[in-house]
Amino acid sequence: MSHKAIIIRANKMGFCFGVMKAVRLCENILQNPNNVNKKKYILGMLVHNDFVVQDFQKKGFVTIEESEISSLKKGDIVVIRAHGITKEIQQKLEEKEVELYDATCIFVSQIKWKILWAMEQGYDILFLGDKEHPEVKGITSYAENIQVFAELEELKRAKIQKDRKYFLSTQTTLHQKKFLEMKKYLEEFYPNVYIFNKICGATQERQRATEILAKEVEIVFVLGGRKSSNTKKLYEISKSINPNTYLLESEEDLEEACLQGKSKIGLTAGASTPEEIIRNIENKIRGILDA
Ligand code: SF4
Repeated sequence: MSHKAIIIRANKMGFCFGVMKAVRLCENILQNPNNVNKKKYILGMLVHNDFVVQDFQKKGFVTIEESEISSLKKGDIVVIRAHGITKEIQQKLEEKEVELYDATCIFVSQIKWKILWAMEQGYDILFLGDKEHPEVKGITSYAENIQVFAELEELKRAKIQKDRKYFLSTQTTLHQKKFLEMKKYLEEFYPNVYIFNKICGATQERQRATEILAKEVEIVFVLGGRKSSNTKKLYEISKSINPNTYLLESEEDLEEACLQGKSKIGLTAGASTPEEIIRNIENKIRGILDA
């Protein structure tokens, strides 16, 4: 197949500030000669992209799960992933006296600090996000009496008392439209809820750029890890606008058949997708089409 085509990249795509920082932190650890003989671990997935994780494994990091912390020794290097860890795991790591490097994104830490502040001020805590996501597990572990909601329907079943004050925060990768729905509901029925919107700017920018792209092209490839929350949201947003949307983790996932007759190809990528993956997929498309 070879017909004339153009490839359009979303206005904002790929590595965000927090992921870039986590990747640089690990690279700096590897470059420090004092660390050559130390054991180096990353707790969980540094960022939600297998390519990035495997690359650091090849360079000398071992990925360790939370259940394996007991095997760590004093002085081992341990990097905390970009979306943070729970209070309990943090305490265990400190007790182990490992050399801790915190790659938790500043935007995630800010939510945690603000929730701690709100508890001190006597607020009950509400949180919008996915209970199973490591970021949400980490943040909510610092709060007492917290209620977590992923959808408006769940929020409608919440136990919110009119005579108490509530502080509500959000997962950084929450879908903006979902948030606005829930916000509207709360503002209408519960003026006693203080809303602290912490959807990350990088996530919003990528979501908006994907919406624009999906309207402009005939087919959209969303590039990124299937475990990445923000990549999945970009996929959902694009698919709802443009049914010809495909999620690709690497160039191997690209099937030629879907390019048949398409001359305007859109590319977008989650915040944890490295440029190398984007370039490989773009080059493969160029190899198939005259683009
Ligand atoms: S998506 Fe936002 S919150 Fe998450 S790592 Fe990137 S900059 Fe930080």
